[in-house]
Amino acid sequence: MDEAQLPAPIAIDGPAASGKSTLGAALAKRFGYRFLDTGIMYRAFTLAALRANVAPESSGCSAFGGTLALTLRRGEWGTGIMLGDEDVTPLLRDPRVEANVSLYSALPPVREQMVQQQREFARGIRAILAGRDIGTVVLPEAPLKFYLLASEEARAQRRSTQTS
Ligand code: C5P
Repeated sequence: MDEAQLPAPIAIDGPAASGKSTLGAALAKRFGYRFLDTGIMYRAFTLAALRANVAPESSGCSAFGGTLALTLRRGEWGTGIMLGDEDVTPLLRDPRVEANVSLYSALPPVREQMVQQQREFARGIRAILAGRDIGTVVLPEAPLKFYLLASEEARAQRRSTQTS
């Protein structure tokens, strides 16, 4: 396909463990896009907040977000995330992060901060973004949107192998 005709950005939405990152990474590799699995941003925030003992219900939680130096590290097809100078990508599947990420990611100021960074990532490049709200809130104008469905069984199996 002529590269100029490739739609961008591409949004991939769907429930947890439905295969969003698998699809996103495969499309990125095949068609030369940059891929961002947006879950890593919420996971990195959670890791940082847990380290700093900032509880999701504490009034300082959103201000804490403003102090964080979270930067996306663009790899060839995928994306990692830095917390200051530390590449925290390998730590994001920690059970404590897993258990707490939905609490932090439900906070509107945290979501606003992440959404801004996600739009920034997608600007001016061929990008594929995967995660909750991507097609509806983050990139509503995306010319190509996927919403994945998967059976309970397939999702449970995927969870047990820790892909999303
Ligand atoms: O996709 P992943 O399992 O890595 O996402 C971890 C958690 O981050 C999700 O369960 C959800 O709570 C949150 N998340 C979100 N919005 C996104 C991506 C992830 O709220 N776009």
